[in-house]
Amino acid sequence: KSKAVATPKRTKEILDTYGFSFKKSLGQNFLIDVNILKNIIDHAGIDSTTGAIEIGPGIGALTEQLAQNAGKVVAFEIDQRLLPILDETLGEYNNVQVINEDILKADVKEVIAEHFQSLEKVKVVANLPYYITTPILMQLLMNRLPIDSLTVMIQKEVADRMAAEPNNKSYGSLSIAVQYYTEARVAMNVPKTVFMPQPNVDSSVLHLQMRENPPVDVKNEEFFFEVVKAAFGQRRKTLMNNLARHFKGDMDKQAIRMKLESVDIEPSRRGESLTMEEFARLADAFYSED
Ligand code: SAM
Repeated sequence: KSKAVATPKRTKEILDTYGFSFKKSLGQNFLIDVNILKNIIDHAGIDSTTGAIEIGPGIGALTEQLAQNAGKVVAFEIDQRLLPILDETLGEYNNVQVINEDILKADVKEVIAEHFQSLEKVKVVANLPYYITTPILMQLLMNRLPIDSLTVMIQKEVADRMAAEPNNKSYGSLSIAVQYYTEARVAMNVPKTVFMPQPNVDSSVLHLQMRENPPVDVKNEEFFFEVVKAAFGQRRKTLMNNLARHFKGDMDKQAIRMKLESVDIEPSRRGESLTMEEFARLADAFYSED
C-alpha cells in the first residue's frame, strides 16, 4: 500500500503536484496526522459491516482510513478541483465512491438506499467545513435518515454547545436541538497543529449517537423548538421575561405565570437551568391547537 495521505510531507507533495490552492471560503483545512484519523475511526466504530458517509474528503486523508475499515465509503465533495486528486489518492480502493455535490443539496436518503443496501449500518464520519457545520448536522438529523451515528470534527466551541447539559455556560437551544435527535458527547479535543493550513479556532471530535425516539414526547415539535429558542432569548433574563416578550400580544404576564405554575416551573428561573423534559412540559402547556 502507498504511504498515508495524512502526513505533512505527502500532503505538500500532492498539493504541489496538482498546484492546488486552499479555498478558505470552503473551509479547507486538511488533516495531516494519521493518529488523529485513527482515533476518529475508533470513536466512530467503523468495521466491514459499516457504510460510511464522508462530507468533504479533501485530498482523501480520512477517506483512505475509512476505505481500509468500512464496507463501503461514499464521500460528498463540492470542490471539483479535488476530483482528479482523489482519483489518484484513492485509486487503489474499490469500495469508495466520490460524489461531486454540495452536501446541503444532496439526496442523502437516496444515496444510502442505493449504496448501502447490503451493509448493516450507516455512519457519518467527517472533518466538516466549519462555515456550515450546524446547517449540515441539523439537516442530517432533521431528515431522520437511517443513520446509526455521526462522528465529526468541528469547531470546539460548537461541539461544546451541542453536547452541553443544563446550567453549563454552553447550554442553549442548539444543545436541545441536537440532543433531541442524538446522544451527544465530545470524544476528544484536537490541537490546531494537525491541520494544514492551521485554522484560527480550536477543534473537537463530536460523537452523536442517533436516538431511536426523541427523549421527550411533545404535542408539536416545531412549537417545542420555538419555545426553547424563546426561553433562551436573552440569556440574562428570567423565563418569565423571555416568554412574556415572545408571547406579547397573545398572553399577558399573569396568564404566563399561571401556565408556568401549572407545570411546576418557577417563573424566576432562567432558560439555561431547564432540562429537556422541563422544556417539553413547558411547551405543551403553552401549545394550543388553533
Ligand atoms: N476530509 C479532509 C481532511 O480531513 O483532510 C478535508 C476536510 S476540510 C475541513 C472540508 C472539506 O469539505 C473540503 O474538502 C471542502 O472542499 C469540502 N466542502 C466544503 N463545503 C462543502 C459542501 N457544501 N459539500 C461538500 N463538501 C464541502
